[in-house]
Amino acid sequence: MSAGIEIVLPDGSRRSLPAGATGADLAADIGPGLAKAALGVEVGGEVRDLSRPLHSGETVSIVKADSPAGLELMRHSTAHVMAQAVIDLFGGDSVRLGIGPTIKSGFYYDFDFADGRRLKEDDLQRIEARMHEIIAADQEFVREEVPYERALATWEARGDRYKCDLIRGFPAGETISFYHNRARDEGEAFVDLCRGPHVPSTGKLAKAHFKLLTIAGAYWQGDEKNPMMQRIYAACFASADDLKRHLHNLEEAVKRDHRKLGKQLKLFHFSDEVGPGLPLWLPRGTVILDVLREFLVDEQRKRGYQSVVTPHIGRKHLYETSGHWQNYGDSMFPVMGDAEGAEFCLKPMNCPHHIQIYQSDLRSYRDLPLRLAEFGTVYRYEKSGELGGLKRVRGFTVDDAHLFVAPEQLFDEFVSVVELVRFALATFGLPVQARVGTRGTEEGGKFVGEPELWERAQAEIVRACEEMGLAYTVEEGEAAFYGPKLDFVVTDALDREWQLGTAQVDYNLPQRFDLLYTAKDGTRQRPIMIHRAPFGSLERLMGVLIEHYAGAFPTWMAPVQVVVAPISDEQLDEARKLVDRLRGLRLRAELDAASEPIGPKIKRARLEKVPYVAILGAREIRESTVSVRSRDDGELGAMPLETFLERLEKEVVERR
Ligand SMILES: [Zn+2]
Ligand SMILES: [Zn+2]
Repeated sequence: MSAGIEIVLPDGSRRSLPAGATGADLAADIGPGLAKAALGVEVGGEVRDLSRPLHSGETVSIVKADSPAGLELMRHSTAHVMAQAVIDLFGGDSVRLGIGPTIKSGFYYDFDFADGRRLKEDDLQRIEARMHEIIAADQEFVREEVPYERALATWEARGDRYKCDLIRGFPAGETISFYHNRARDEGEAFVDLCRGPHVPSTGKLAKAHFKLLTIAGAYWQGDEKNPMMQRIYAACFASADDLKRHLHNLEEAVKRDHRKLGKQLKLFHFSDEVGPGLPLWLPRGTVILDVLREFLVDEQRKRGYQSVVTPHIGRKHLYETSGHWQNYGDSMFPVMGDAEGAEFCLKPMNCPHHIQIYQSDLRSYRDLPLRLAEFGTVYRYEKSGELGGLKRVRGFTVDDAHLFVAPEQLFDEFVSVVELVRFALATFGLPVQARVGTRGTEEGGKFVGEPELWERAQAEIVRACEEMGLAYTVEEGEAAFYGPKLDFVVTDALDREWQLGTAQVDYNLPQRFDLLYTAKDGTRQRPIMIHRAPFGSLERLMGVLIEHYAGAFPTWMAPVQVVVAPISDEQLDEARKLVDRLRGLRLRAELDAASEPIGPKIKRARLEKVPYVAILGAREIRESTVSVRSRDDGELGAMPLETFLERLEKEVVERR
């Protein structure tokens, strides 16, 4: 037999191919359908060009458009096509290219124009039209490996400082790769500095459904000292339906903006007199906050937490001991002094206060785990330009708790924290993923504490995620300054991700405050702390929930659950009695006593997104029924009052 190669397919079967065979050859060998659909290959988790040679023994899967890797290939390749279109339309000599990475819903590319051109919204349509021509031309993507010096010289000759900056980011002497787009009969159409991979030719992008969305300013390499480039954002999906849904979500996000809905539904208010980033909760918003607190307090009690209350300020010395002053000072408001010369800080975190409660008594192993919970309002200095509605504020309430645990309890306690966070967020229909923030490779720097302790804590967090089957990613260098953390990221109804809650293992503060407990054998031991907040900040959660529900809160959370609407003034007394009865059942009911026909009353309740209107006319009163209009299910007609009450109670109890 001639010297060929043997490739392993994902199902374990083997295929013999001639030496030098590529991904394209493998796809063709498997079948003509696959040869057509193939966009690239995946070898050991790495996606490669279809044209790269394969090696004996490699396990190779063919990447098609219907996989995440295929979508990634299409998005990235379409970014090249967009750059080519911009050059074709606005002149190759004046366009300087930044970077063109993929993002969660598509891609972007950064441009700078030597002639000072400002891209306009109308340009996007022209660019899109040109992109479709490039795709129709089915240009090949051809990889070229270029020595470092020649690569640098090429982009210097083009006067493109950005690409030169990128090349200089590689070690000198490294081989650099270019990707050329070659039109079938016209030769070179476009070249870009890129590590790849790409689809084999632009024709494959006929399956990419994309739309150019916006133009935004972006500093080169995110540094405000660098020139501002013009960034074109594009959405790109593997199906027309996915693109349509994404565009719909974008429109919907504007309509659902919590700042707009918060005003319309009278939930919260910002006053210049009070200050930026300091929300004032109106009665209706406060109802929702109360419901959220009750829900969590209840769940925490079941899990053995104890509630505590601590003040909003504390001595500066407390924060020096905790390390917040040294490590977190930039985020704290300036110190205030009292007439006796003592210095106080507004608390940026609740931990030091809870530690004082731990230290208020001698602790033994019988006290552990000690779980202290508080809805603690904290204050953090954020630049006023960075504040945004409820999602970034200066004063907010953390659904905080600190668990003081013996080392052998750490893992189980951490798992039960993860369980609670997941349960709480699932109640809102928010699926959760986790992000593990580690110390990374940074030596010392902003992180305090012994590296061995960090290693141990990081390992416990990862083990807990695995035990719970919770999908997680690891973000190096994203830890809190005192310990590694697990951030919970939810996906809302519009497919957007938000970081909410967090859980952190901390060996450091117990050491700094010299926390101790008496172990079974009588020795003095050091507890470990877990900091955790399932919602993170109630304000931020509210911002997310308002948009997630588009202001139409489920019955258990709605500020007003039922509006009782009499058909005429003659039913006012009975209507009042019904409101009292509902309130007696701890339901949130309001009377619409306006001397108006029923139509405007129903409309008003709909605008306020009230789940139910209970209509009372002469007939309903005679028959002990109510006519019910549901926000979500429409007209329900007349039903016995008891049936309606059961329905309401069920929705509240089941938190549907
Ligand atoms: Zn590329
Ligand atoms: Zn804490």
